[in-house]
Amino acid sequence: MKVLLIEDTVTSATVVCNWLTNMKLTALHADTGEAGLEMFKHERPDLVLLDIIMPGMDGFEVAKRIRKLEKNHWTPIIFLTARTDEQDLQRAIDAGGDDYLIKPVSEIVLKAKISAMRRMAEMRDSLRTLTNKLEKTNHELQRLSAIDSLTGIANRRRFDGAMLREWRRCSRSAKPLSLLMLDVDLFKLFNDHYGHQMGDECLKIVAHTLEESTQRPNDMVARYGGEEFATILPETNAEGALAVGEAMRAGIEGLRIDHAWSPISQVVTISVGAACVIPPSNGETGIYALIKAADDALYRAKEAGRNRVEMAKGIIRVAGPSAAKIGA
Ligand code: GH3
Ligand code: MG
Ligand code: MG
Ligand code: MG
Repeated sequence: MKVLLIEDTVTSATVVCNWLTNMKLTALHADTGEAGLEMFKHERPDLVLLDIIMPGMDGFEVAKRIRKLEKNHWTPIIFLTARTDEQDLQRAIDAGGDDYLIKPVSEIVLKAKISAMRRMAEMRDSLRTLTNKLEKTNHELQRLSAIDSLTGIANRRRFDGAMLREWRRCSRSAKPLSLLMLDVDLFKLFNDHYGHQMGDECLKIVAHTLEESTQRPNDMVARYGGEEFATILPETNAEGALAVGEAMRAGIEGLRIDHAWSPISQVVTISVGAACVIPPSNGETGIYALIKAADDALYRAKEAGRNRVEMAKGIIRVAGPSAAKIGA
């Protein structure tokens, strides 16, 4: 433990330094406030013993500056002074001091105070370690709560959050927001033929391929549930949404993952439903209408033979009196 003594009276400094050394502590001494502050910066002591009356910068000022220097740290400061005025005690604590010893200081009292401060410092350190650990765990939990455990891409929860955020953003900027709903074709047959484990592997590859097909930083692919995925495309019009949807469809087909039992293709394919809206300013309930429009388009893609992209059409009511056009 390193103790910095800032004291201008040489005789009393010598005595205190000797006691500190006897206590097996490393004693550092500065004889002015300015020198003490410099030494504090370089040595980072574990405890400061601080005289109040000194030529130049006094102890109150030194304490204040030490507190300003420390953002996430707290070095205990004990004031040592001949002054016995209670107002001084108040000022010392206000300036950032932790304790106050009246000179002449006794060796026993000093020793006891240092032990108490050390105990407090240890508790503070373990508290800080614990807080850091908690923060890390929290961060990791938050990350995990947003990703799908099988595929590692965004999960439904993260999708819901992103959807709301992008809806509001596009509403403010009056830009189109597009949504794709994507579903693996005849995946039950895939599982039946190759087994559930192979099915899982297939979903992982599909998820990553979809994710790689997006280009803008705010685009988001999420696992919506089961073998169904969703893609949010902010500031993307219907034409752009169709293009991304088609690129995704072609990308999955291009993987050429065998799907022997599929009556529509020899390989794994997806169907895609797309919808696009300029979100109105009056209400977010339109999100559900957008999702439903994309879902309906997906249903039409399935009905039309699968392995294709369908765009939502028509006008839908989103919220209140206003209506938004969804689709092309
Ligand atoms: P469609 O083309 O109409 O979508 O046909 P489908 O067979 O894909 O649709 P259906 O909804 O009948 O079946 C979906 C299948 O997806 C059934 C289910 O076992 C499988 N599935 C859903 N989630 C998972 C998963 O996490 N892992 C695996 N291996 N299979 C899954
Ligand atoms: Mg003095
Ligand atoms: Mg399916
Ligand atoms: Mg499905």
